[in-house]
Order: sequence, then C-alpha cells, then structure tokens
Amino acid sequence: METNSERLPKVIFGPIHSRRFGKSLGIDLSPGKKQCNFDCLYCELDPAKTMDDQDEVLSVETIITAIQKGLSEHQDIDFLTITANGEPTMYPHLSELIDEINKIKGNTKTLILSNAATIDDPKVQEALLKLDEVKLSLDCATQKCLKKLDRSHTGIDVENIKAGMLEFKHKYKGPLIIEILIVKTLNDSEEEISRLNEYLLKLQPTRIDIGTIDRPPAFDVKPVSYEELLHISHLFDSSLHVYIASRKKADISSSSYSYDEILETLSKRPLTQEDIEALMDEESQKRVENLLHKQKIRLVETNGVEFYKKA
Ligand code: SF4
Repeated sequence: METNSERLPKVIFGPIHSRRFGKSLGIDLSPGKKQCNFDCLYCELDPAKTMDDQDEVLSVETIITAIQKGLSEHQDIDFLTITANGEPTMYPHLSELIDEINKIKGNTKTLILSNAATIDDPKVQEALLKLDEVKLSLDCATQKCLKKLDRSHTGIDVENIKAGMLEFKHKYKGPLIIEILIVKTLNDSEEEISRLNEYLLKLQPTRIDIGTIDRPPAFDVKPVSYEELLHISHLFDSSLHVYIASRKKADISSSSYSYDEILETLSKRPLTQEDIEALMDEESQKRVENLLHKQKIRLVETNGVEFYKKA
C-alpha cells in the first residue's frame, strides 16, 4: 500500500554532526513503524514481528520531495544517510530511489546503514553499488548467534549474508564499512570473534567498527566494557583496521607506555587517536608524537578515521 503524502510521518531527520561523516541528513524509509527482517535483542525500537517485505511503503516521489526540502533548509550537508525504523534495503523501490537521489544530491555524498540481511539479493547489490559509501552490520559469523542475537526472519542464513557481502565487495569501488555490535555473553566469545576474523580477512572491508550497547535496548541485554572491546579488537588480525566506535570510552585508567611498548602495541594493532588518549597517559602521548616525528610510526587514514601504525 503506497502511503498518502498528506499523512506522512517524518522522512528526514537531523542534521546529525559526527567526526567521520560531518553534517549528515538522515532519510528514514520506514517512518511510520518498525519494519525489519531482524528483531535484534539490542534494538532501540520496541520489539516487533519480523517481516520479509515492507507492508507500509512510501512513494519515491514523497521521499524525494522530503529530501529536496531538507537540502534547501540545511546548507552544507556532507552526507545523505539512508536508514529506516527497521531495514532500509526492504524498501521495494530502493534502486529507483537512489537513481533519483543521485540526480539531486549535488556534492553531497550518499551512505546506507543496513543490517546486510538482503545483501545476497542481486537487486539490492545493484542498488547499493550506486551509493558513495556502504555500511553493513555483521554481528555474528554463525547461524546460531544470528538467530539468538539478531533474531533473524525465517529463511535468512548467515552463510548467504557472508557470500553476498563477498560478491558485493568484489564489485563495489567505494568504502565498505562493517559494523559489529558486541553484546555480553552473546557474541563476545573468542570462538565467535575468531569466526568473524576468519571471514573478515577474506572480505577485507575498508574498516571494521566495533561497538556495544549504549542506548536502552529492547530486551534485557548487557553491553561490554571498553576494556573488553579493546581485548576483542586485539583478537582480530592486525592487518584489519578495527575502530572502537563505542561512546563508552572513559571507563579505563590511562597508563604509562615506554617507546618500546608503544612500538610493540602498534605492531600488533593500529590505534586511533581516541584509543591512544584512552589508554596512554600524557607523557606516553608525547612519546607517540615523537615517534611520529621520527617516522618510526605513521598515520594511515581509512575513510575518515586515522590510525597510528608502526612504520
Ligand atoms: S536490524 Fe536494526 S532496526 Fe532491525 S531489529 Fe536490528 S537494530 Fe532494530
């Protein structure tokens, strides 16, 4: 059923400011209600029955009109971020919508935030290929974990998701970011992380963002601490760019690192400025600057996030 534009809930939200995406205007492809093929335990929205297809569908024209209005009201938008109260790739006119957005976006970049459940669908891949950046979630490398944590709709198979992502990565030229949300006791085991690592080494995404619950979840599930996230980041291969994207950063005390310890740490894992500020005391941070000056370490940028690495 196409929804009448007069009765429309809000399609555009923001702008939201962030270091990585600058000024971003959000586009909600399901503003009326949650329409999702997952019902994640950590979802910020109320629990809802999972579905295959949207049953409340906005017209492309309605969404484009809302975007045009948003772009005229807010100047200097860096990103148009396609999202939903639910899963945006379930929107049935996604490819056509992206074509229309590309006609009006000017210098603004486009980004989608998707749970990846439909990434094995050639039509979804074709649509996402037309975006400037793609961010896909992958909380689990095993079906058991996907069923338990993301409570996926019947018929969604993690092996198809993984195969679909590989196929998409092969064709896609823009930055592909993978987001992993870690939930205590559900996907924080060394076994689950090792399976994710094994797969992500094959995928070679631009960056992996790991985070944890930082808003009230739908169910009684618990976040992990920053220390645990840091430990988990160490379990990934050091060639992968893992960024700790959690807002809970300040719950560990900083320590003193010698020059050798800094070099040793960075040889195992590239660290961002935020990680360095959380882990190291002021003197150690000065040592990092010295090492950078002496070119013993270097700064590498991956899609807006800078990592310190051993030279
Ligand atoms: S994929 Fe997103 S919207 Fe859907 S249930 Fe999970 S957290 Fe909620």
